[in-house]
Amino acid sequence: DSNRFQAIISHCKEYGFIFPSSEIYDGLQAVYDYGQMGSELKKNIRDYWWKSMTQLHDNIVGIDAAIFMHPTTWKASGHVDNFNDPMIDNKDSKKRYRVDHLIEAHADKMVADGRKDEAQGMLDEMERLDAKNDFAGLKKLITDHNITCSISGTANWTDIRQFNLMFSTEFGSVAAEEGEDNTVYLRPETAQGIFVNFLNVQKTGRMKVPFGIAQIGKAFRNEIVARQFVFRMREFEQMEMQFFVRPGTEGEWYKYWKEARLQWHLSLGISPESYRYHDHVKLAHYAKEACDIEFNFPIGFKEVEGIHSRGDFDLSQHEKFSKKKMQYFDNDIDPATGKPFGNYIPYVIETSIGLDRMFLLIMSHAYEEQDLSTAEKADSRVVLKLPAKLSPIKLAVLPLTKKDGLPEIAKSIMDECKSHFKSFYEEKDSIGKRYRRMDALGTPFCITVDHQTKEDNTVTVRHRDSMEQERIPISEIRNLVLKAIE
Ligand code: ATP
Repeated sequence: DSNRFQAIISHCKEYGFIFPSSEIYDGLQAVYDYGQMGSELKKNIRDYWWKSMTQLHDNIVGIDAAIFMHPTTWKASGHVDNFNDPMIDNKDSKKRYRVDHLIEAHADKMVADGRKDEAQGMLDEMERLDAKNDFAGLKKLITDHNITCSISGTANWTDIRQFNLMFSTEFGSVAAEEGEDNTVYLRPETAQGIFVNFLNVQKTGRMKVPFGIAQIGKAFRNEIVARQFVFRMREFEQMEMQFFVRPGTEGEWYKYWKEARLQWHLSLGISPESYRYHDHVKLAHYAKEACDIEFNFPIGFKEVEGIHSRGDFDLSQHEKFSKKKMQYFDNDIDPATGKPFGNYIPYVIETSIGLDRMFLLIMSHAYEEQDLSTAEKADSRVVLKLPAKLSPIKLAVLPLTKKDGLPEIAKSIMDECKSHFKSFYEEKDSIGKRYRRMDALGTPFCITVDHQTKEDNTVTVRHRDSMEQERIPISEIRNLVLKAIE
């Protein structure tokens, strides 16, 4: 629900996870900055994905391509002609909406009014019309349901038009020569950096089909946005992997990746009920088969990741536009002919996930407000039940008091742990307050150094989720944490 969503946004800001971009100038719409905690959490998600792709699969390698690419890339990929969204403007408020967002927001309202079946009917109809690019039909759907603008409250709409989502800028400091176009685009996806490097990587890495190339990096889209925090940004980060296969085997590999990617999500300990697949009716210009993995965000079930069977669309297009061969020679023997499979353009299965959207997913999963009141006193806490391997801080080391040599012992524990995992030292405030602050940051373990520590070299470990405390020897701290984050 929207209260929970707002609470997560506030929490992100209050505890240094995410700030609005250039906030002192009132922010920049749909652009965000990650703070001291957020950048750690984001890095841990990024590393977890990167490791699962490039370390746990011995046939997947990573690259880091530039954001700027030759402008012809985007003609070949279809983005210049096809990367559009149907838009509609309200004549009174002059506010612009993406048609699907406008209709989806209305469907949410209908569901809230108890008109669930009607809402689903409208969404099915939208998907059908959208698949045919039937703009007149979509406009009729908007007027038939009397969908109004959230600002003006009126239904005074323009016709529906296409709007390209790519940002462009100019290359070079000198004005373009007459007739020369020096427009370059900020990449709207990282995938094309992989396709144009396909042969470079295949040859220098001696890769044999089937193999994959993974990449993590920024992408830019001029989204027309409703307020959705980091769910929909104009500058965001993608984690994409293109898996190159022999034509004819794409069906089985599509199934493989569809399943494998869901397993990756579940490996973080998130419940399967929070996820569902959405198979696409309308296919993007490149796709043969496609599905989304959707997560039950506080704003409802929404896409977090896409798995697409792209055929040879991209490599063929680049072959056509660059006039360079994109063929792969497969010397495996085809049992049907007894000869090598020979030359072909591989088919591609893509897995594409937004890092920022995954961040929001993790936050939505982890954020919990707990009522801890007893008969004697009212009490509550906010805890981030982050998977320990993703937590920004793994261990907080807290001396009970600032004197009696306790800080010295705590600091020596810090010295022993900090090269193994992110550890944090804090001596301000009461121990209870310090625990609560660590709960709010998602720190799985706090250890407290007290007077008994001086006698028997033990400390109290306090567990974030259960709030249980136990005594362990100092010598066991490191392994306790390492075991939880491996
Ligand atoms: P949507 O339908 O939500 O606009 P999409 O289908 O256009 O997404 P893809 O082009 O398949 O998305 O991009 C792959 C992934 O990149 C998405 O699943 C999402 O996690 C992420 N992503 C796409 N656009 C954005 C954005 N504007 N902000 C944050 N993440 C995004």
